[in-house]
Amino acid sequence: MPLHVKCPTCRKECSWDNNPHRPFCSDRCQLIDLGAWTEERYRIPGRKVETQLGEDEEDEREDR
Ligand SMILES: [Zn+2]
Repeated sequence: MPLHVKCPTCRKECSWDNNPHRPFCSDRCQLIDLGAWTEERYRIPGRKVETQLGEDEEDEREDR
């Protein structure tokens, strides 16, 4: 019984078996999703640094 899944990128139905790019329909959709994920990853450290700096300042003030 062939199993079909919906590609998370383009929502097209593709077969799960013999699909090296599952759950994506093609390597293109896989790269698109990977690229979006990588962008998110690059954004988060920038935000974290800002948050950590603010927290450090507050900690120092409470100590003194
Ligand atoms: Zn696709």
